[in-house]
Amino acid sequence: MSAVSEKAQSETTLNPLLIGKGLPPFGDIKPEHVVPGIEQLLKNLEGELRSLESQLTSKLESGDAPTWESLIEPITPITEKLGWSWGIIGHLMGVQNSPELREAYESVQPSLVQFSTQINQNQAIYNALKQLRQSENWSDLDPAQKRIVESDLRDAELSGVGLSGEPKEKFNAIQQSLAELSTQFSNHVLDATKAFSLTLTEPEEVTGLPPSLLSLTAQAAREAGEENATAEAGPWRITLDMPCYIPFLRHAQRRDLRERLYRTFITRASSGDLDNAPLIEQILALRKQKAELLGFDSYADLSLARKMAPSVSAVEELMEELRSASYEAAKRELREIEEFAIARAHLPGKHRPESVKQWDIPFWTERMREIKFDLNDEALRPYFPLPKVLEGLFGLAERLFGISISAADGEAPVWHPDVRYFQVSDAESRETIAHFYLDPYSRPAEKRGGAWMDECIVRAKEGEGVRLPVAYLVCNQSPPVDGKPSLMTFREVETLFHEFGHGLQHMLTQVDYSGAAGINNVEWDAVELPSQFMENWCYDRDTLFGMAKHYETGEALPEEDYQKLLAARHFMTGNAILRQVNFGWVDMALHSQYQPEGDESVWAVRDRIAEKTTLLEPLAEDAFLCSFGHIFSGGYAAGYYSYFWAEVLSADAFSSFEEAGLENKDQVATIGRRFRDTVLAEGGSRHPMDVFKDFRGREPSTQALLRHRGLVALPSLRAQPL
Ligand code: ZN
Repeated sequence: MSAVSEKAQSETTLNPLLIGKGLPPFGDIKPEHVVPGIEQLLKNLEGELRSLESQLTSKLESGDAPTWESLIEPITPITEKLGWSWGIIGHLMGVQNSPELREAYESVQPSLVQFSTQINQNQAIYNALKQLRQSENWSDLDPAQKRIVESDLRDAELSGVGLSGEPKEKFNAIQQSLAELSTQFSNHVLDATKAFSLTLTEPEEVTGLPPSLLSLTAQAAREAGEENATAEAGPWRITLDMPCYIPFLRHAQRRDLRERLYRTFITRASSGDLDNAPLIEQILALRKQKAELLGFDSYADLSLARKMAPSVSAVEELMEELRSASYEAAKRELREIEEFAIARAHLPGKHRPESVKQWDIPFWTERMREIKFDLNDEALRPYFPLPKVLEGLFGLAERLFGISISAADGEAPVWHPDVRYFQVSDAESRETIAHFYLDPYSRPAEKRGGAWMDECIVRAKEGEGVRLPVAYLVCNQSPPVDGKPSLMTFREVETLFHEFGHGLQHMLTQVDYSGAAGINNVEWDAVELPSQFMENWCYDRDTLFGMAKHYETGEALPEEDYQKLLAARHFMTGNAILRQVNFGWVDMALHSQYQPEGDESVWAVRDRIAEKTTLLEPLAEDAFLCSFGHIFSGGYAAGYYSYFWAEVLSADAFSSFEEAGLENKDQVATIGRRFRDTVLAEGGSRHPMDVFKDFRGREPSTQALLRHRGLVALPSLRAQPL
């Protein structure tokens, strides 16, 4: 062995990213491990993949039909090793980012993406999957195994593996063009957003703006060259970035400035060099061609092939149900806002509205919210110290699902001293089921914003035993300061419950195949069921008062504040629903009914849907489609409805507990156990509709969502026994 390869050898053995299993040794992993580790890993895995391919091909030639053991079991370690190393790096990118790590990540990312494509679009694997599906061996598979193979097959087919010859070339060319168009689309939106700014110099122009927005806009002014800009004296640079645009519309008293900003915002990327209108037509035409190559009538059908929603008409029915339930309420709310606005002529601000326009609604809604609820996020914090909230959450998990959660700090390496480690066990048998990390606090210098749950280890059969799942729960709440515990806003509490819900599905899975354990293989529009379900409990009297205790005095949250929390949940709900229905329906119509080069333009489709889903007619220049990135450059094409789809499921699941009575401990425990045994345990191993029906005893209904959103009168809850 030469000195060079000897050195390479020892680097490999020392590289912690190549361990491939178990808890990640966070203390040992450094950014400099990424490039050599991933290069080595990909070399190894490519070798394994090549030898698997040749085995599969020779088996195929000999007419020997593949089995689960000869096909899926050998692929699994390849994808798992890849997932282990890449998962750690991805996790660290989120929680311990640094320029060194980012650079390393960016340099290995393309080859990682390329390798996963090689697996997902692998011809030999696809042929073998197809053969397994058609052979006698198929009947040996259990239902979960069948579902895994079927979704692998479907995913491969949707990525074009089943095509050959000219259609394949056409398909690949379309994919390429779509990728470029979607990048162009989002670049245009970014550039158009950046191209506008409004520098205000008179204090009178910024009346009403909250201090945080004044500092933000003064900082923007400094960055644009106004060296001496201050929050107090200006100048203030107003932009169309969301953190500026939204609060400006809510708080700026100058109506003319709000109008100007609004009009500019809705025309972003709709003219000149940055015009997205032609791109929209090209994208929709190419998507339709792509769908047709794969044997679908429309792109919406293609998108739904991977989702729980059975058909375009089922989605449209949902939209119509929500629309008709919210329309009158939305009109009432708007009238109320209008009367409220006109009655407040004495308020400062010289431009009193005669009738409310689009740029008035956020402003007056906010004024009404202040008066009606007077609910100050900050004032509630002392009632939600993290330790109490965790106690409440874990107590709830025990009541509902029969699990106990205990601290296991020190049993796993962590990436930051604030990170906690917990053990989950069955309350009855005392057996350990899972573990999770909790990284609760915001660390702006190195941690991405937002909150998420991610898989660290996925449950799977391992030899005679089972490899237990481990989850990452990551939040971004206020850290402890001055010896006080972390004091949370109510929104932060909801977020923690939400992520914990995802974590429960990952950790309480009973599926022993990693391909369908936890959240794996769960349809995209059903994956928010457990998370949104858990959020509901934050409003449950017993759960809330069990944890909402003042961190110093121990006194309970005042009843009045609880009532405000409940009421605020329903504020302007009709308008909120109608707006999302409009987006979801336009998205669906463009991907199912719109015909490229047909008689109805995309704008006519937009107007047709707007007629029934908006109260104020869109302005003539309204070009919101040109900045609708969710569907033209994000992952939501023919999928925007998913927000509602999952909420129907989660609200309906929660209503099962409401029907039994939330204070009825025995019933709550029985239904909770059923939720654990169905939704949480079975995850992706069965179709979500079957899982839901097993839990609920029937198909989902929208009634609970509407009631939770305050849209229908409270029906007699216990009318229908399960
Ligand atoms: Zn979620």
